[in-house]
Amino acid sequence: RIVVVGSANADLVLAVAHRPAAGETIVSADVVVMPGGKGGNQAVAAAKLGGDVAFIGCVGADAPGAMLRERLVAAGVDVRGLRSIAAPSGQAVILVTPDGENSIIVSPGANAQVSTALVAEVADLWLGADVLVVQLEIPLETVEHVVPRAHARGTRVIVNAAPAAALPAAVLAASDPLVVNETEAEAALAARTGQPRPGVAAADGGPGATALDLLALGARSVVLTLGAGGAVLVERGADGAAGTPLHVPAHPVAAVDTTGAGDAFVGALAVELCAGSGLEAAVRRATQVAAFAVGRRGAQASYPTRADLVIN
Ligand code: ADP
Repeated sequence: RIVVVGSANADLVLAVAHRPAAGETIVSADVVVMPGGKGGNQAVAAAKLGGDVAFIGCVGADAPGAMLRERLVAAGVDVRGLRSIAAPSGQAVILVTPDGENSIIVSPGANAQVSTALVAEVADLWLGADVLVVQLEIPLETVEHVVPRAHARGTRVIVNAAPAAALPAAVLAASDPLVVNETEAEAALAARTGQPRPGVAAADGGPGATALDLLALGARSVVLTLGAGGAVLVERGADGAAGTPLHVPAHPVAAVDTTGAGDAFVGALAVELCAGSGLEAAVRRATQVAAFAVGRRGAQASYPTRADLVIN
């Protein structure tokens, strides 16, 4: 079984001609409310692919919270670890301008209450999972609580260090893989400044070298995603030594909406690793799933089932 500990947000997506200036009122031609948040997205992605998935998190006892819960349930996610609490649900306001750029305001709301105490209360749900998936839209101390404990019990831990942040050593040591995009890789490596450089000098050595730098932070394996450039993975050998980075190209697709592509990728990775695939095979499958999501509008709404992947 796969357990995702993370965030759920209701995304209010507004199409606007331009961003409002101070004191200005503008009209949006189109508004939609969509389920989002990295944790919820990853849980739904994995469940749609047929994974046995549980989600641990918090929403508010409000309309967005009801919608988020309903979408997780509809995807087949076990929500026994989802609390509805006396705080507003996590929400994001996303302004999309005609150039395709977006401006985003996120209010973590209930996600900030995914506490160490809460995850300890539902420890029976995640201790002993086959695969644990975490991201950084919940308090870091909660991630620091669950990751080493799950790893110590033999759970394979996928750490998606998003949004960008440096990670504590105990979390890195259990990350198998650490999954980051290029921005997140920079943030993860920034913490290293001033420390002795690891064995591989990589500043300008391309994504393979960056992946090795990330591995040298202490992760057990690393997947660096490169958008339309695909992904690079690197693992340690049985002796703990760094292996050779491997590039997996993206599936070619006409990009319609990249929202939630990284989350589709992580959800697919979890399903494949849970099924016993090696990391390379899992990354190949994840790029296929992410490309499917990129070719369709929305985040969760764009995620494929297994049947979708056979046809497309
Ligand atoms: P994030 O969405 O977290 O910023 P990336 O942009 O690196 O992460 O995308 C994650 C994965 O989604 C990539 O590794 C790739 O497999 C897939 N992907 C993203 N953009 C495209 C694209 N334009 N065409 C095909 N695949 C894509």
